[in-house]
Amino acid sequence: MLIVKKFGGSSVADKDRIFNVANRCIEDYKKGHDIVVVLSAMGDTTDELLEKAEQINPCASKRELDMLLTTGEQISVSLMAMAMGALGVPAVSLNAFQVAMHTTSQYNNARIKRIDSERIRHELDSRKIVIVTGFQGINKYDDYTTLGRGGSDTTAVALAAALQADACEIYTDVDGVFTADPRVVSNAQKLNEITYDEMLELASLGAKVLHNRSVEMAKKYGVQLVVRSSLNKSEGTVVKEEVKMERMLVSGVAADKNTARIAVVGLQDTPGIAYKIFSVLAKKNINVDVILQSIGRDGTKDISFTVERGNLKEAVDILESNKGRINYKSIEADEKVAKVSVVGAGMISHAGVAAEMFEALYNVGVNIRMISTSEIRVTVLIDEQDVDKAMRAVHDHFISD
Ligand code: ADP
Ligand code: ASP
Ligand code: MG
Repeated sequence: MLIVKKFGGSSVADKDRIFNVANRCIEDYKKGHDIVVVLSAMGDTTDELLEKAEQINPCASKRELDMLLTTGEQISVSLMAMAMGALGVPAVSLNAFQVAMHTTSQYNNARIKRIDSERIRHELDSRKIVIVTGFQGINKYDDYTTLGRGGSDTTAVALAAALQADACEIYTDVDGVFTADPRVVSNAQKLNEITYDEMLELASLGAKVLHNRSVEMAKKYGVQLVVRSSLNKSEGTVVKEEVKMERMLVSGVAADKNTARIAVVGLQDTPGIAYKIFSVLAKKNINVDVILQSIGRDGTKDISFTVERGNLKEAVDILESNKGRINYKSIEADEKVAKVSVVGAGMISHAGVAAEMFEALYNVGVNIRMISTSEIRVTVLIDEQDVDKAMRAVHDHFISD
């Protein structure tokens, strides 16, 4: 079997953890399997590197940030190869250039386009464990790129697809995918299995246990994932197309603080206004999420929407510099907001989930600012300070022990 195993930052945070991971990989290697390991940077390395950059130049270019951030993963892979060497097992570490992990050119948020597998195959054929840097790629300018925070999961799935691996295991610091973040909701339950679609919603809505693109890619290439703990041997959660279990109404609750709200107030109530606003933002690659438009009154209307928090300033600047073209009275920006979502495939055939969610929030006095729904999800935008309380209330309402 060829097994891709990905370990997150906390799983390789120090010497003991590195040897723990090395031993777990060696166990499968000694059974005769081919092992490809994908690693994140150790512990909080990526955050620390970002802080360093901030101290030097708060407006550093995305190219230089990627050059910096990719060093984190190079440290962990080389140390892991050394650890395996110390345990008497041949291993080789490879970075994005050595593998040739081609991505789009966008720094900080690149997408994997193609992976050359010859070098990895060659190393596996000589019975080495191959350890690959997660999160990084190379673009057409021969520069490093990164895949966005949490992107090592996507590296692992892309490698599993490219190498047609028999298994792709994502090891982390919790026992699997839970019905909510177990660090916030203490009675969250571990799921034995979950569909790609539900996992994709949860990941996109803030459940950072898997990078959302990794789930997208796993679905596209039919890579079955197992999410499990690097610290114990419990079974974990299988992420796949169809699940055997009867569908629960709600499979999970997610929260996302990486969001901000912009309201464009006093717009003319005429055709083409939404087009003007969202096209100027799209041109600068700013993703817009929940959108709310008020009913026109006295010939004017308001449009509110959310963007990633890191994009707030740029989005406001773009709108201000296009004030003449869009023609509005004022802009309100609010960073202290968060999204809370319930996700479940069972919702397709069950009315009233939204009403029940609103009731649960009402019962704990949480005010809803915006609402957005799809067939399998309901999302509300609330004040950031209410987010943990809201998560617990909504989780307790839908998912009982
Ligand atoms: P890694 O470094 O292994 O990639 P992450 O910190 O990126 O780990 O993701 C794991 C974390 O995701 C957990 O520690 C947990 O707090 C958080 N999390 C959020 N939502 C969920 C969920 N529904 N199920 C499991 N973990 C979740
Ligand atoms: N080290 C990167 C991050 O912290 C990538 C990852 O952990 O997946 O975001
Ligand atoms: Mg992660």
